[in-house]
Amino acid sequence: PRPLLAVDNLSKTFTIRRGFPIAKTSLVRALDGVSFAVQRGEALGIVGESGCGKSTTARVALRLTEADGGSVRFDGQDLLAAPASAMRRLRRRMQIVFQDPASSLDPRQRIGEALAEPLRVHGLGRGAELKDRVAGLLAEVGLPATAASRFPHEFSGGQRQRIGIARALALGPDLIFADEPVSALDVSVQAQILRLLDSLRQARTLAFVFISHDLGVVRHFCQRVTVMYLGRVVETGPVGPLFGEPLHPYTQLLKASSPVPDPEQPVAMSFQEGEPPSPLTPPPGCHFHPRCPRAFDRCRAEAPALREAAPGRAVACHLYGEP
Ligand code: SF4
Ligand code: MG
Repeated sequence: PRPLLAVDNLSKTFTIRRGFPIAKTSLVRALDGVSFAVQRGEALGIVGESGCGKSTTARVALRLTEADGGSVRFDGQDLLAAPASAMRRLRRRMQIVFQDPASSLDPRQRIGEALAEPLRVHGLGRGAELKDRVAGLLAEVGLPATAASRFPHEFSGGQRQRIGIARALALGPDLIFADEPVSALDVSVQAQILRLLDSLRQARTLAFVFISHDLGVVRHFCQRVTVMYLGRVVETGPVGPLFGEPLHPYTQLLKASSPVPDPEQPVAMSFQEGEPPSPLTPPPGCHFHPRCPRAFDRCRAEAPALREAAPGRAVACHLYGEP
């Protein structure tokens, strides 16, 4: 079937100025030929260390940041070429949930109003009907109807994330970009929010692009996963086989440094080996070669292409595929 979201060969370079007293301009290749697809009702995880391009991928796909090249097709429509009017219509169907829900909630606005606002803007009810819809959204995320008359500061972090999720659901999206949605929460609260997201995914046939640095969380929540390293996709595949038998040496390192004894107890990645990567000065060839125990000459000279390694699995590494 046609994927709900198809990201193809996306690229984005940022120019940054740093240094004092004389600022130098540097180019950061945030996205370098990023491709992946998401099916309806599927949760695709995007994992990698900070600076690998995970959040930029979401921002570019939502057109919060303009891409330099590549394409993003949503339900068959080219998003990057869509005129503003079409984009507004499509944006209803794609929402984002952030790590810190407080950043998207107005502290002086009651929750009921925060949830009613997008509905009203899109002409989806008024008066009593609007109130019912807001109560319905609150119930769907496990909050009482009385929450509507309260302010953001009256809720815990987990409850605020439920409100952020309710807001993302308000317009009936087909796809939610969730950028580290549970990273700021206690482990027990994380598990509750992940269960909520999973039940919403199933009940609404809702797709997710689930961005996380936490392998345990991704393994628990997602059906497929895309691994990124310094702006490039290095491996993609179904969660079980990919984490069970990772092909790319970077995925192998992720797995080795992130034991997950209990999926309810997510473990963040940690790296003992090698230098932390810098998107400012990516190494030539395969970006991972300075940390790769299996690097050989070709790796230092030539970037490996992402190619199919098994049905549904792809890897970008010179150890696999044609010489
Ligand atoms: Fe390691 Fe070479 Fe594969 Fe890169 S291409 S992951 S350096 S073996
Ligand atoms: Mg990020």
